[in-house]
Amino acid sequence: MHAFSDLATAAYCPRKLYYRLREGDHTVPETVRERRSLAFRYPELRDPDDDLSREPIAVTPTQYRTNLACARERLDAWDALANPPRTNVLLEGREARGIAHKVLEDPLAVSVVSAGDPPDEGAWRPQTARAVAAAKALSWEEEVEVGHAYVEYPAHGVVRKLPLSTRRKAIYREAVTRADAIDGPPARLSDDARCDPCEYREECGVTTRSLRSLL
Ligand code: SF4
Repeated sequence: MHAFSDLATAAYCPRKLYYRLREGDHTVPETVRERRSLAFRYPELRDPDDDLSREPIAVTPTQYRTNLACARERLDAWDALANPPRTNVLLEGREARGIAHKVLEDPLAVSVVSAGDPPDEGAWRPQTARAVAAAKALSWEEEVEVGHAYVEYPAHGVVRKLPLSTRRKAIYREAVTRADAIDGPPARLSDDARCDPCEYREECGVTTRSLRSLL
């Protein structure tokens, strides 16, 4: 049984998951907690009288409110996402267990909240793997098909609806396969974009772009 967070890490880099499992420290940093908490305060954050200057947002207050307004306009489930019936729900599926930050009803769906920055469309692979894992676990528990999930990037006020497409399920499946296979350090990536921000890069020994520029 894998943790949702481990599958997200496996989708990012299996070697990173190896380090993470070996270290055994799954503490969520305070900055991540603060950013995630924004996803539970949308009605307040949309209020034009609310001062956003001290909030941990990654864009200007004007852009932030514009993004929230777009999400509200675009998403049928906005009201449920802004006032979720169930929050921080522990789900246990056939292959994975973990926390879904929001569980919505009618139709049944999960939402996972990321402290990071969103891609231009959809969600990054780690959040996709985590969202599919949570949706599959909810489906397993409720014995009802769950057809989509949401990924929220609350530091930007961005919310993405993810139908559980074949491609997204394949990302999840690959993450499970990678996590199942870990019994020693997997090969390093040769991917500056992922290695540069990785907290294990020194231990890992990759030569990142930022290090190369110093050499
Ligand atoms: S530095 Fe790169 S290869 Fe090494 S664990 Fe991190 S992401 Fe993976």
